[in-house]
Amino acid sequence: MTECRGGVPGFKAPFVRVLRREFAIVTRFDGSLPVAPIAAPSAPCQLYVHVPFCESLCPFCSFHRVKYREEKSREYFAMLRREIRLYCDRGFTFGDVYVGGGTPTVNPRELIETVRLIRACWPIRTLSVETNPNHLRPDLLDALQGAGVDRLSVGVQSFDDMLLRAMRRYEPYGSGARIAAQLAAARGRFPTLNVDMIFNFAEQTHESLKRDLAIVRELEVEQVSFYPLMSATSTARHMAKSLGVAAPGREFEYYERILELLRPAYEPSSAWCFSRAAPRSGPRPIDEYVTQQDEYVGVGSGAFSYVGGRLYSTTFSLNRYRERIAAGESGITECKVLTLKQRMRYDFLMRLFGLSLPYAFITAKYGRSFWWRMAPELAAMRLIGAIRYDADAIRLTQRGMCCWMSMMSEFFTAVNTFRDKMRRHIRAEEYRPGGADFGRAARGAGTP
Ligand code: SF4
Repeated sequence: MTECRGGVPGFKAPFVRVLRREFAIVTRFDGSLPVAPIAAPSAPCQLYVHVPFCESLCPFCSFHRVKYREEKSREYFAMLRREIRLYCDRGFTFGDVYVGGGTPTVNPRELIETVRLIRACWPIRTLSVETNPNHLRPDLLDALQGAGVDRLSVGVQSFDDMLLRAMRRYEPYGSGARIAAQLAAARGRFPTLNVDMIFNFAEQTHESLKRDLAIVRELEVEQVSFYPLMSATSTARHMAKSLGVAAPGREFEYYERILELLRPAYEPSSAWCFSRAAPRSGPRPIDEYVTQQDEYVGVGSGAFSYVGGRLYSTTFSLNRYRERIAAGESGITECKVLTLKQRMRYDFLMRLFGLSLPYAFITAKYGRSFWWRMAPELAAMRLIGAIRYDADAIRLTQRGMCCWMSMMSEFFTAVNTFRDKMRRHIRAEEYRPGGADFGRAARGAGTP
């Protein structure tokens, strides 16, 4: 198999470079638009719940996360439940729920109470929750099973102790051998146990990647997601210092190795996610729920929504989040209206990240105009062999998976750059003289 090795032929051609940049632009908010409340979609959609607390802050991480303190988290979860009730009162309906972070399981009691509220509001079909290896304890797993979690996604990143130390995850989360043993003990408790892994560290050798893949296969977890290492402006320098910089284009080589060594036990569910045989009804939920859901609403500080052709972001400031929720508003402070062309590009990118773009979906959403408006993108991707036209859908080829792996990495780097901008609020909060800290401020305001 040599579809990716050395890069995808034509992938650096100017017209493809323009497309890649254009896809990433979709995520840029300019902050100039007044933010109106989201109108409830006519069909049930995805609910994303963001819990930004972590016990230890990994230096490579670009997500919205803050250091865990119990009191602070209790107040935050109370706000989160108020925001969830707000959407319930406004007539939104949700079928699938994804709780991400941060580390959503840092305060299990609060998490379970929040899940109970969600279930009381809506008949939920699937519930995914993210966690870290140190939370794979029997008591916590019992509580998550009791709450009806369908999919538990564990942030492992690597089983290689040298890499875990470089990522500063060895101390808080234990050695690779210990994590593997914890995963083996958790297996079978949930319909889907997913393991999140990262590849393309500068120090990662072929042997190390091969060992990681062998451990995943031996564990026989239902799902594994392999992400290329990504940075943001804020983390790039630190990452280069602590983790080094991989040779340009090496991610293609490693990605191809992953495809080779996971098959046939695992088949791709998206360009980054690989699953064992699907359960009896419907596809398994995956980390990249944006590929499976047309629209989604994010609650909590630092969550994104996509509804009615608009992208929204909630505030990354915990103080601002508290103020908005206490005033009976949602946490949303940023909005971007996508043009028709941008919406088409967004669907093209996201659906094909999930491997296929059905013709029925295109026709129902855009009619025939999709074909001429997207003609340059379709022609470019066809020319480099990234897509093929099947009877029912446009599908990614093996070469297309390599393209999308790289393109999505650029897309999420653009998202990370936006997160960087929003995080400036948090730095201001943390260092503000007098400490206008979320916990104290919330008590002062008399919020629950
Ligand atoms: S990688 Fe996970 S545990 Fe580490 S800071 Fe990011 S969200 Fe928290």
